[in-house]
Amino acid sequence: MTNLQIEQFSARSDNFGVLIHDPETNLTASIDAPEEQPILDALKRRGWKLTHILTTHHHNDHVEANLALKKRFGVEIIGPEDEKSQIPGIDRTLSHGEHFQFGSFDIEVISTPGHTNGEISFHIPSAKVLFAGDTLFSLGCGRLLEGTPATMFKSLQKLVALPGDTQVYCGHEYSESNARFALTIDPDNSALKERAREITALRAAGQPTLPSTILREMATNPFLRWHDPAIRRNLKLENATDEAVFAEIRKRKDHF
Ligand code: ZN
Ligand code: FE
Repeated sequence: MTNLQIEQFSARSDNFGVLIHDPETNLTASIDAPEEQPILDALKRRGWKLTHILTTHHHNDHVEANLALKKRFGVEIIGPEDEKSQIPGIDRTLSHGEHFQFGSFDIEVISTPGHTNGEISFHIPSAKVLFAGDTLFSLGCGRLLEGTPATMFKSLQKLVALPGDTQVYCGHEYSESNARFALTIDPDNSALKERAREITALRAAGQPTLPSTILREMATNPFLRWHDPAIRRNLKLENATDEAVFAEIRKRKDHF
């Protein structure tokens, strides 16, 4: 069993680009395609040739470089069945629960709608890694541009069911502003306070705050802590459903 190699870099203003590489078969996939030049630079840095693009959702900041990279490398573009008409150059579509082979690695598709109606996340169990697109961020979750709180709540429930030591990669570097909001919801959470200090230090040093892990997000991310008694007390929602607690936190973030 070889190791999956991962290269994370920044693109556009606050997007992450991520390349994954299987040294056994020499396949390289870009998780989304936010911007051509940073992806080309990353490929050059590692000496990899792009063979695939794995698309999480249709927003322009995730698909803008699809056609340019397809023209340059002849890559296969794989993305969500439910958004196929909106994803430039898509070759192959996937739905929830489907698996596909990326070299030596089995990739599981998890349907995670809410930010968009067809968004998917990519999970590689043997590498313990999740690519969550704009569904889950560190200390945050995607804005509900197409789905409802109920839809996003169900999507996040699927992600917290993954093994705790799964590394989480996300579409954007939003951790610093997410931390400011999270502290208003969960001010006495010492794990959150520690994470917020770490985020400030990393950003001051020009470093990324990701990847995170499922376990760490469950301990610190208010959008995954619908069950937490202190948060429920703060929100005066002691007896509400988990979904209602999530919906209230999402609403407050929208107006933060
Ligand atoms: Zn998006
Ligand atoms: Fe985005």
